[in-house]
Amino acid sequence: MKLTGLTAVELGRRIKSGEIGVREAVEAQLDAISAKEDKYHCYITVLREEALARADEVQKGIREGRYTSPLAGVPVAVKDNICMRGVRTTCASKMLEEFRPPYSAAVVEKLEAAGTVILGKTNMDEFAMGSTTETSFFGETKNPWDITRVPGGSSGGAAAAVAAGEAFAALGSDTGGSIRQPSAFCGVTGIKPTYGTVSRYGLIAYASSLDQIGPIARNVEDCAALLELIAGRDERDSTSVTREGPAFGSALSGGVRGMRIGIPRGYFSGGLDAEVKDAVLAAAGVLQEQGAEVEESELEAVDYAIPAYYVIASAEAGSNLSRYDGVKYGYRAPGCGGLQEVYKKTRSEGFGEEVRRRMLIGAFVLSSGYYDAYYGKAMKVREVIRQGFDRAFERYDMLLGPTAPTTAPKLGASLGDPLKMYLGDIYTVAVNLAGLPAISLPCGRDRAGLPIGLQLIGRPFGERELIRAARSFEQTRQWRLPAAGCISDGRGGAAEREAV
Ligand code: GLN
Repeated sequence: MKLTGLTAVELGRRIKSGEIGVREAVEAQLDAISAKEDKYHCYITVLREEALARADEVQKGIREGRYTSPLAGVPVAVKDNICMRGVRTTCASKMLEEFRPPYSAAVVEKLEAAGTVILGKTNMDEFAMGSTTETSFFGETKNPWDITRVPGGSSGGAAAAVAAGEAFAALGSDTGGSIRQPSAFCGVTGIKPTYGTVSRYGLIAYASSLDQIGPIARNVEDCAALLELIAGRDERDSTSVTREGPAFGSALSGGVRGMRIGIPRGYFSGGLDAEVKDAVLAAAGVLQEQGAEVEESELEAVDYAIPAYYVIASAEAGSNLSRYDGVKYGYRAPGCGGLQEVYKKTRSEGFGEEVRRRMLIGAFVLSSGYYDAYYGKAMKVREVIRQGFDRAFERYDMLLGPTAPTTAPKLGASLGDPLKMYLGDIYTVAVNLAGLPAISLPCGRDRAGLPIGLQLIGRPFGERELIRAARSFEQTRQWRLPAAGCISDGRGGAAEREAV
């Protein structure tokens, strides 16, 4: 197998044993990026020189015993809403096109302290608002399984990079599904941790009460290793918590015997694609065969999750994004006559359509006269949803369902009808409203060959159980790089095959 086909943990192992050099790994990864980026566009910025220089430094550090983590020497990618000191961090927006943060996010510091090598900043929906990566100011990312389709979003660049073999693992962020849904569409694995598990310091805010950084990787083991590395209390994020036993890497074994898994009835009706449904139920059957107790369950208020989420997320976004005013930092429209004009022109020109829409919704739902009817009510629904999960977790250790109602849609099919796009978040947003952990992992492919995602939702701080169950399921399936059986080259040509 070629080096770029290894899992992150396996690569880390071979680097530690001296079988593979860090520079060799980084060069192989940069070569893969050079060969594929034109086709997929996973990255906004590739840190070629920096990564090569860092490779030598890390190799030395490993030799001297300074870097001992299982991922020391492994090249990883970081979503472009996570600040890296001195490195352009754009949030895929014209507003921050030239922004170079004077500080690094807590997770970047942790990646650096663990001896990983950061390859670059991955593409995303502008300010993480979207489900397709098509709202990026820098142009869309393409799904490596079929380049006529979206990779999902908003962490589409990160998920596509892992799927395409352009990164061994990546960090994404998840406000309403942005780690899980692109992981599902790209056939990779992603974890949205319990709110507070990972510091948000240096994550450019979208909706602060929902945002959480997490890993995207080729399998559960890699995700667990990366999550273990980034988790932890941080003084600079008052919502981060000290967790007992965040040793996720050791949670893999043990199987699912005796675990109680609920399948919320409400997750299997409405717009759910029949092939997705079959694959997810088949996965439930596999877990049952492995010893889990699986049964249908209730989950209240599922139907209200989307409206509540979009009201709350937009309200928080409107408030968070008010800092981009053309005065403090970021883009400023040229040739303005006065302050009002600076605000107006800067924000009209600096933000894309979807971001402007969210800010308008946010301003509306928070305005006097409408606050109680919209924001106040959404907050009540949020509480009802949380209580619904609490009740479900009295009976079950975790809930199982699809990550998304369909497989990846065609490029260009979603943006024309935003409401329809929002409805695609039906299975992911409630998890964020309740602050819960969830994992998405591949559980099959549809007739067109596109990956299908299985979602497991855990109780607060239940990541270890999720990891154990997901690992148990995963061992029945082989993870594959899509390039081994890529469906379409976008020109209507025959299936393309390339060695990876
Ligand atoms: N698609 C959702 C939204 O647009 C979720 C995005 C996210 O998780 N960042 O808000």
